[in-house]
Amino acid sequence: MGQDKKVAIVTGSARGIGKSIAAKLADNGISLVITDVMIDQAEETAKELAGKGVDTLAVKADVSNFKEVEDLFRKTVDKFGAVDYLINNAGITRDNLAIRMTESDWDLVLDINLKGSFLCAQQAAKIMMKKRSGSIVNISSVSGLLGTAGQANYASSKAGVIALTKTLARELGGRGITVNAITPGFIITEMTEKLPDDVKEGYLKQIPLKRGGTPEDIAEAVNFLISPAASYITGTVINVSGGLVI
Ligand code: NAP
Repeated sequence: MGQDKKVAIVTGSARGIGKSIAAKLADNGISLVITDVMIDQAEETAKELAGKGVDTLAVKADVSNFKEVEDLFRKTVDKFGAVDYLINNAGITRDNLAIRMTESDWDLVLDINLKGSFLCAQQAAKIMMKKRSGSIVNISSVSGLLGTAGQANYASSKAGVIALTKTLARELGGRGITVNAITPGFIITEMTEKLPDDVKEGYLKQIPLKRGGTPEDIAEAVNFLISPAASYITGTVINVSGGLVI
């Protein structure tokens, strides 16, 4: 029996940008795996999105843990029979000036943001290669393009995500798989709500479009990159930042 519905895994999708991405894909009838470290919230989100008439599955997985990532993909294939799209969205910050940054904060951010994206892409690629189709979208950040004071760990991880994107695009293109990245700018979520007011105002001053982005702005870009309209686009980085980076 052929698979009629497309299936997406969105990491870190219990809330924030990941939840908006999942909601956008649900609007297109895509079956969704809501995966996060917070299972209660992931289950709540999965239930909410099922209200849009799509099949959903909530899975607890820490993307930096090889075994949990393997289980995540196994559970997805057991339920849906495939993975058509992977959105590597899970990410954290642990900001501090480089001279004060602890080794554990460096390791944690690199493990979740960069290794986590790699581990998920590795599992996704194994499944997508057999089908000779699929799309991976990695959520990087403008910090990975510019560098940001106080974010040596985060900016390095997000620059790494861009290099990972380009490498995977080269390795997987021959199997019909596209791999692209998005660099959000200043997006209003719980992650950025935590920033001091002067930092937030500083960002807004530098944005030509004069507003912070919304999670929906990122979801629209993801939706485009996995759509047939983007089938000849791979290895690229789409900057969704209101012009913060030009
Ligand atoms: P968020 O609200 O903090 O959401 C991130 C989600 O990922 C949270 O639910 C978080 O759970 C989860 N997560 C954390 N560690 C995880 C792990 N090890 N395994 C699986 N899930 C994990 O952040 P957001 O603002 O939506 O950001 C989403 C992505 O966009 C991130 O990659 C971020 O770097 C990127 N981004 C955001 C902005 C922005 O302005 N907001 C700008 C550029 C890029 P917990 O809450 O339990 O940690």
